[in-house]
Amino acid sequence: MLVLVVNCGSSSLKYQVREVAAGTDGGTVLTSGLVENIGGPQVRDHTEALELLARRLDEELGGRTVDAAGHRVVHGGERFSAPVLVTHEIVREIERLAPLAPLHNPAAVLGLRAVLRTWPHLPQVAVFDTAFHRSMPEHVWRYAVPEEFYERWGIRRYGFHGTSHDWVTGRAAQFLGVPREDFHAVVAHLGNGASVTAVRGGRSYDTSMGYTPLAGLVMGTRTGDLDPSVVTSVLRRDPSMTPEALDGLLNTASGLRAIAGHHDMRTVQEAADRGDERAELALEMAAHRLAKYVGGYHVAVGGARALVFTAGIGENAAAFRARVCGRLGALGVVLDDDANAARSRGTRRISAPGSGLEVLVVPTDEEQAIAAATAELVAGTAAG
Ligand code: AMP
Repeated sequence: MLVLVVNCGSSSLKYQVREVAAGTDGGTVLTSGLVENIGGPQVRDHTEALELLARRLDEELGGRTVDAAGHRVVHGGERFSAPVLVTHEIVREIERLAPLAPLHNPAAVLGLRAVLRTWPHLPQVAVFDTAFHRSMPEHVWRYAVPEEFYERWGIRRYGFHGTSHDWVTGRAAQFLGVPREDFHAVVAHLGNGASVTAVRGGRSYDTSMGYTPLAGLVMGTRTGDLDPSVVTSVLRRDPSMTPEALDGLLNTASGLRAIAGHHDMRTVQEAADRGDERAELALEMAAHRLAKYVGGYHVAVGGARALVFTAGIGENAAAFRARVCGRLGALGVVLDDDANAARSRGTRRISAPGSGLEVLVVPTDEEQAIAAATAELVAGTAAG
C-alpha cells in the first residue's frame, strides 16, 4: 500500500510517500519533500499546494497512485485516543479544537480539506499528538484549579509528542523482549521541543507537557515548568506587556536561548566545551530538570525497567545524556561510556551491565509511525 504522510503547517506542507506491506512497520520511503511559502504569490493556498503535490507525485511515483493519506494532527482534545478515519464530521471536530492548538489545528484542517478536494475518494487517517496520553488517569490530567477552568475552557493536561512516545515505547519493549503490556519505562523525547513520559504497562501514565507544549522540561526556546505567579507578576509590573507578548517570550525567547544565548543543543554544547559559563549553566539547568522528572516517573510507574532517549538531542547528544545519567546514581544508573559515545542509527543499549535501569537510545520516526497507523486502519476497514 502506498501511504502519503502529510504534516501541514500554516505556510508549509511536508510530505512523504511510503510503501507499506501488510503487517510491517511503516515501510520504506519512496519520495519526500516540502511545499513552502503557501499564501505567497506562487502557491496561494493549501488547495493549490495539494494540486502542486499531486503533479509532483505523478512524476515522482512513475504513474503509481497513493492508496491512503495519514495526517499529523497536533490536538485531539478529549475525544481522540487513537488514529481515526477522516470524515467531514471528524474534520469539523478537529476544527472545533482549534482554541487548544491555535497555530496547528487550523493548518491541519486546511490540509485535510485540500486532500478531500483533490482526491475525494482517498481514505484519510488523522493521527493525533495527544492521543497516546489519553490513558493518563484523572488524578494525573487534572490541575488543582477551580472546576470552571476545566468546564468552560477544557483546561487540563493533555500532553504532546504522543506519536513519538508511543512508537519509541513499542520499539524499546521489543528490543528488550518485554511484552508491551508489562513494560514500565521513562521515555525522554528531546528535540527542540522536549517532553518526558512515564510509561506504565506500555501506556502513558504521566507526561511533562500539559495544557500546552510549554510545560515541563527546559527546551530550546521554551521555559518549561514555571511558577504561574511569574506570569501574573510580569503582567502587573510592566504595563506595556500583553498576554500575547508574554506568551511569545515564554515560548520563543526562553529555555536554552534565554540562558545560553543559543537554542540549538549542538551550539550550546560547543560553547560549554569552550568554557562558556552561561552555556554550562543552561545545560546544568536542563539536565537537572530532566533528572528530577526521571526520578519522579520512576516512582510513578512503580519502578521503570528502562530510560529511553529519543529525538535530535536524545539520539545524538552523548554529552547531554551523560550529564543527565550522571545525576541518576540514586537509581543505580551506570552508563557504558563507550556505548554512549558510539554513533549509530539503530536502537541500542548504552547502560553498563548491572545498571539500575537499562538506558536505551531509540530513534524516533513520526512519519513511519503515522504511515503504519494509517495502513493498519485502512487495511482493517477494507478487510472488515
Ligand atoms: P529535533 O527537534 O528532534 O530535530 O532536534 C533538534 C535538536 O537536536 C537541536 O537542539 C540540535 O542541536 C540537536 N542535535 C542534533 N544533532 C545533534 C548532535 N550531533 N549533537 C548534539 N545535539 C544535536
